[in-house]
Amino acid sequence: MLAPDYATLPKSKRQELCLAFLRETFGETARQPLEWVEFDWNNQPWTGGCISALPPGLLTTAGSALNSPVGRIHWAGTERSSIWVNYIEGAIRAGQKAADDVVARLRSVST
Ligand SMILES: Cc1cc2nc3c(=O)[nH]c(=O)nc-3n(C[C@H](O)[C@H](O)[C@H](O)COP(=O)(O)OP(=O)(O)OC[C@H]3O[C@@H](n4cnc5c(N)ncnc54)[C@H](O)[C@@H]3O)c2cc1C
Repeated sequence: MLAPDYATLPKSKRQELCLAFLRETFGETARQPLEWVEFDWNNQPWTGGCISALPPGLLTTAGSALNSPVGRIHWAGTERSSIWVNYIEGAIRAGQKAADDVVARLRSVST
């Protein structure tokens, strides 16, 4: 079920479905949470839900700017990755790339 459809269900139904999924994944104890907190990412104006609020074409037209540091600032967000953009895998890859770039830069300055 997609998140926008899930959000229209009554809270008790959402809880029932979510706990069934958690039980299936983590076992019976997951059915007794200590607390229940819900947060609807679709209502967040700067996030707009899961994955990305970026409009189509933005990364293909302007994304290459993220590969160039601005002064001492190196970009390390998921949007900088060449694969898995907007996923955690892309964020990790972009972070590793930025760290490598900074290390190489520091080495070139110190030699
Ligand atoms: C609801 C939702 C569900 C998701 N589900 C999945 C999933 O199932 N699988 C998956 O792979 N990905 C998922 N994602 C995507 C994944 O979370 C992101 O791609 C990833 O977290 C991006 O990492 P990032 O480091 O690029 O940016 P972020 O995680 O956004 O980190 C940026 C950080 O910079 C901080 N920051 C911002 N401005 C400033 C400033 N001026 N000064 C200092 N700090 C600042 C922010 O507070 C934040 O901590 C989901 C995203 C959302 C929103």
